[in-house]
Amino acid sequence: MRYKNLGRTGLKVSVLGFGSMRLPMIDGQVDVGKALEVLNKAFDSGINFVDTAVGYCNQQSETTVGKAVKGRRGEIVISTKNPYKGPSGQEWRAILDQSLNRLGVDYIDLYNFHGLTLEQYQNWVGLPRSPIEEALKAKDEGVVRYLGLSCHDKPVNMIKLLDTGIFSSIILQYNILDRVNEGVMEYANSKGIGVVVMGPVGGGRLAAPSDAMMRMIQSKVSSTAELALRFVLSNPSVSSALSGMSTVKMVEENAATASLAEPLSKEEREKISAALEEKKRLADLFCTGCGYCMPCPNGVDIPANFELMNYYRIYGLAEYAREGYKRLGEREKDGKKVPAWAGACKECGECEPRCPRKIEIRAQLKSVRKELG
Ligand code: SF4
Ligand code: SF4
Repeated sequence: MRYKNLGRTGLKVSVLGFGSMRLPMIDGQVDVGKALEVLNKAFDSGINFVDTAVGYCNQQSETTVGKAVKGRRGEIVISTKNPYKGPSGQEWRAILDQSLNRLGVDYIDLYNFHGLTLEQYQNWVGLPRSPIEEALKAKDEGVVRYLGLSCHDKPVNMIKLLDTGIFSSIILQYNILDRVNEGVMEYANSKGIGVVVMGPVGGGRLAAPSDAMMRMIQSKVSSTAELALRFVLSNPSVSSALSGMSTVKMVEENAATASLAEPLSKEEREKISAALEEKKRLADLFCTGCGYCMPCPNGVDIPANFELMNYYRIYGLAEYAREGYKRLGEREKDGKKVPAWAGACKECGECEPRCPRKIEIRAQLKSVRKELG
């Protein structure tokens, strides 16, 4: 296992972190025996960084992580998150105390504001006993060693949040198909702020095999997931990538990837970047996702169908595209089933004059249905 500094915190974390949002479950309950087996395997493989949150696994993730770290507290860096969005520091603190309880610890190494936005942060500034004030107090007390945030806001807003000087690390989305946060990651790194990646394999999207993706580099990769993880780990700004692991096998495979001295060479990274640029260009040639063709009177989500078709045709992610298509067919609105897949198109033609790319939407939707349906 390789280890890196988490920004300037002084914490050394394994480059592969354990994301505790996909612990093995049975009938809505964490299968504690299996989950502990997976977590212990992770710790024994050198993973020393575990991330959880109040809501994960039907609110049972923190308790399970707490059981797993018992007896290993000093070795493991624990990260969890506070989802509170209201104005009261007292309520925020109550959630922190509950997490300490559930985890069975007297301090948390990295305590994150869960899904913080710039707007939310600004709403708190200047409030008496705000969550921010309370967080700084908790840090002074030592129940929280470092404050962080997880964030899905726009990159420009992420940078403003980092500039507040409060946060020692940021958890953000980054993977081989979604590189919009690369600039933020570089910025954070230059400021000594730890960068923790969530969704390194695209929330499972890249777990399904794709020859087109695997052909992007010469060296041997056994799966698209491995390529995706190697891509993230080869970014020098990344301190750790959190992978949600549910089985011992996943831990073994990911830990082996995370132990590679050089996940990808500079040349391989450049080759992948060039291949991805080309794929993006091909995808945009078809449909840019601008949405001008919408709304469809029959509920078809035209850009979503075409995006899935791009994953299928251009990235070779057939399994992911077919699953996504199925989900489009199950979409609900106001408690009623309103399928948004290509199969719901009644060929009225209303959308076509609105498409700046002059796409023959009806004909294309038919191919989507044929290939993915
Ligand atoms: S042609 Fe199909 S997709 Fe376009 S507006 Fe009509 S029903 Fe909707
Ligand atoms: S208007 Fe055309 S390019 Fe834009 S989302 Fe619709 S189909 Fe795609």
